[in-house]
Amino acid sequence: MDEETILENFRNELRNWLEANCPKALRDSAANTKNSPRQEDHAAWLKACASRGYTTPTWPKEYGGGGLSKEEHSILLEEIDRIGTHIAPVSFFGTSMLGPVLLEFGSEAQKKEHMPKITSGEIQWCQGYSEPGAGSDLASLQTRAVRQGNDFIINGSKIWTTGAHHADWMFCLVRTDPNAPKHDGISFILFDLHQPGVTISPLMLISGQSDFCQVFFEDVKAKAENLVGELNAGWTIAKRLLQHERSMLSGGMPGGARPSKKESGSQKATAPRSYLAESARPYLGEEGGQLNDPILRDQIAQYELDSLCFGLSLQRSGQEAKAGQGPGAASSMFKLYASEMNKRRSELVMSIQGASGLGWEGEGFTPGELFETRGWLRSKGNSIEGGTSEVQLNVIAKRVLGLPD
Ligand SMILES: Cc1cc2nc3c(=O)[nH]c(=O)nc-3n(C[C@H](O)[C@H](O)[C@H](O)COP(=O)(O)OP(=O)(O)OC[C@H]3O[C@@H](n4cnc5c(N)ncnc54)[C@H](O)[C@@H]3O)c2cc1C
Repeated sequence: MDEETILENFRNELRNWLEANCPKALRDSAANTKNSPRQEDHAAWLKACASRGYTTPTWPKEYGGGGLSKEEHSILLEEIDRIGTHIAPVSFFGTSMLGPVLLEFGSEAQKKEHMPKITSGEIQWCQGYSEPGAGSDLASLQTRAVRQGNDFIINGSKIWTTGAHHADWMFCLVRTDPNAPKHDGISFILFDLHQPGVTISPLMLISGQSDFCQVFFEDVKAKAENLVGELNAGWTIAKRLLQHERSMLSGGMPGGARPSKKESGSQKATAPRSYLAESARPYLGEEGGQLNDPILRDQIAQYELDSLCFGLSLQRSGQEAKAGQGPGAASSMFKLYASEMNKRRSELVMSIQGASGLGWEGEGFTPGELFETRGWLRSKGNSIEGGTSEVQLNVIAKRVLGLPD
């Protein structure tokens, strides 16, 4: 059978599977407000996607993934798009950060133990990197891990740990040799958060949410078999994970999302996606109508163009990364630009909404308006999370442009 026929068969089989397994309430759900999905629909869809490894479509099958080739993965995305749904989401800490580094640095036993539980959504992960005294200068971290029999005993504290209060396990950077130069005494270890000695305190954000926490460890145990890579060689893994994180963060920002929907089986693309939020539309007048403010009109047009160009550059770099060694230092370039684009989008939506964008809570504002105001505040964190913009500029200078230290 030639490759084209194999792929066509794959598409047909996939269509039948989607028809049989994707709950109706999760298809075209944005347009279909009468048919709002229930918790059971989400659970059934997650189970179905995980059973085929579609939550991590390109991971090898033996580690819970879909084992799809690049071409099959594209077909999956097209078919999912065609019925107006999404692959059931599982936490990006597992799929976009820990999973890829386990694939590269983990032992066979670690891959078999942890990756399928990421794919199925059974275990939620969080990232224990930053500490009260170690952020941009991450290698200054002080949380200690000392070997005792088959365990490491951990003492110290992590901060800004997103989702720790909902997580089951943490991937964590710990100091295992306090006498070595600071980059050489760090190890990368995994442990269960549901154990005595772990205290998790949520921190309130400017957006009114409490997404992240400070986590304290008092004689917490990590099994020695959950040390990833060599003892004291965790810095290389830590940096690699950050590249995956930055690449993931850029992909989630405006322009980084998937390109406009293609009609299945043809090369004809529909109109390019607009990157401005749906909630800005009511303030723009009728579709195709003219905005009265020429400056705002210009800013919107420029923003849409920049988003489109960014999306295309990201796509090209993503294809290059897949063909090579995965994301590299250039991920810092995209992370930097994506952060700025998202902040610009939020500022623009605020300008478009005018006085309607001033609401924090209560009556007089639609849920969409309140959402945008909080999103605008949240966007301030874009140039801090995953390494600040200044840190990205340093990486770009040194590792991309090759400028002297
Ligand atoms: C939304 C959000 C989610 C986060 N989630 C997590 C998480 O899940 N897990 C986790 O471990 N951490 C997380 N963080 C923490 C984040 O990684 C740190 O905040 C970040 O690395 C900066 O560290 P810091 O806050 O200690 O700032 P500092 O390092 O103290 O920096 C303060 C300022 O100095 C600048 N600066 C520092 N060093 C230099 C330099 N060499 N050159 C130029 N300028 C410099 C910085 O750019 C910044 O403007 C999250 C942060 C945010 C905002």
